[in-house]
Amino acid sequence: MRKLNEFIWETHGIHAGTEQDHVKHGIDKLEDIVDKAIEAGNPSITFIIHSPRLTNFRYTAERDTNVKFIRGNKSYLNYPKRIANLREKYEGQINIKYGVELEWMGPDLGLQWSRSKIFQAEDADYVIGSVHFAPEGLPYDGSKEEALELLKLRGSLEAYWDGYFNEMIQMIECFGDMIQIIGHIDLPKLNVDMPEALVNFETSSHPLANKFRTLLELIADRNLSLDVNMAGKFKGVGVYPVQSILRRANELEIPVCVGTDTHHVRYYGLNYKERLEYIQEAGYESYVSYSKLIPENRTIYDDHDLKVKYTVLNKGIELLNQRLDDNQRRIIPDYSFGGSFSEFVDIYRSATGMGDYNAIRIRKWGKSITVTNEIPKNSQRIVNGLFSEHLDEPGVISSLFNTLASEGINVETARLKTNNDGTAVAFLSIDNKNGKVQSAIDFINGTDTGLFKDLTYQENAVLPNYYRAGVYLLEVDGVGLNLALSDKVILTKHHNAPGVLLILLSALGSKHINIKDLRLGKLNDVGYSALAIDGDSNVIRNLLSKLGDQYYEANLIEFHSF
Ligand SMILES: [Zn+2]
Ligand SMILES: [Zn+2]
Repeated sequence: MRKLNEFIWETHGIHAGTEQDHVKHGIDKLEDIVDKAIEAGNPSITFIIHSPRLTNFRYTAERDTNVKFIRGNKSYLNYPKRIANLREKYEGQINIKYGVELEWMGPDLGLQWSRSKIFQAEDADYVIGSVHFAPEGLPYDGSKEEALELLKLRGSLEAYWDGYFNEMIQMIECFGDMIQIIGHIDLPKLNVDMPEALVNFETSSHPLANKFRTLLELIADRNLSLDVNMAGKFKGVGVYPVQSILRRANELEIPVCVGTDTHHVRYYGLNYKERLEYIQEAGYESYVSYSKLIPENRTIYDDHDLKVKYTVLNKGIELLNQRLDDNQRRIIPDYSFGGSFSEFVDIYRSATGMGDYNAIRIRKWGKSITVTNEIPKNSQRIVNGLFSEHLDEPGVISSLFNTLASEGINVETARLKTNNDGTAVAFLSIDNKNGKVQSAIDFINGTDTGLFKDLTYQENAVLPNYYRAGVYLLEVDGVGLNLALSDKVILTKHHNAPGVLLILLSALGSKHINIKDLRLGKLNDVGYSALAIDGDSNVIRNLLSKLGDQYYEANLIEFHSF
């Protein structure tokens, strides 16, 4: 038996409190629980908050106060700021994630209200869609009396649950890409029984069973994940969802995320192993957490080597997601695994193998990226090229490309390395068919003499590699690049013609963005570039949006996954 982990990267985590509200909900002193997490040696902690509700949707306890208030409205507005302050205060000590539990309140005003609230959580790590209230204005998770009133209105247990699933399906259709996760899918069991048709939903021919199967398929097809939520267990009705639902979800390859959904400090960090056993029992060996709405895969096992492999996988998923248009993002992509990553083929059943190729390929919508943590071997490729030793400053590389372009010389690939002493070296493989390289060197020596220490054209030279340990972007769309990933990377796909790359490099030079490494590749007349850079993200995004039609893609990739 492999040892299970003693920690969970939670999603539906700790409910941040409603502060000055008259009916308390969640934990107000967030510092207390962060301190507790640090003391326990945990690498991360996850907060969540309910989006505020319309006044028609209130629990009895809220109606019973004589004060009119919209629960959590003010604390919801303060929430991103509170988290930002926490992140600042605890920087370097613990990773702090936060998300929103978006309330479903019907497709009319409720939907517009939720859409208006989602802006408040623009930088959130995840959004869970949850149904707590029936359209009749009664909660599924309020008092027994409220549930019995709704049961009476609907007439039968089957109709009670049928209504809940209808609302779930409508929520998924309407919320669309606003949510990544479905909250506590069998929440009504808190107050009413599950009818026979639901207990045996896998085999029953009852319309309710069929509807529930449809709901699960919809979740799978929409690339949503399922919240495995301990609140039900604390309340004595068992984990949401029951094992049979979780087994079915696993068959449908629906990812799960795990959380306590706790509103009290005393439930923090309890039973990590038991929770992982619970998903393992249903067949899961991994679960997901989220960073900036992008799913991260986590192993249930306490296995260092496996965790390292997941880090490579997660970087790849982040990379691919940031290449996609906004409306295509946040998906669970398709995978291929080879070499030391081959064990993932069993974990992700729809994945394919790549034999001895020690890498992970991640793909969706006709785009792919290939990553590994193995240092690429030197190809010993013999090329003609320009060797340069120069000042490690923004604009120097673009000046080099500029002069080569002025002589009609196209750069085929580049190798850059900083010496970490204010100087850097570069080797650009070029074709010197027009014989103008020497002229280009003379021009550089004439105009940029202070920037370059050495500039030599070499024929039949071995292409240097300058490789170091790290996670490597081996390929984009199958085109070899071999860039060591750093915090910020630019990826472009462009028309491969002289001068096109110069647009990007000049744009970066003009804003003093330093290029730390640069890799070029091509397939037919399409060029690819991967650049490791330093600089302000907003400035970079702005200039990438203005490169023009020759650029089919130009993305800034940042890594938040931990
Ligand atoms: Zn909830
Ligand atoms: Zn919750």
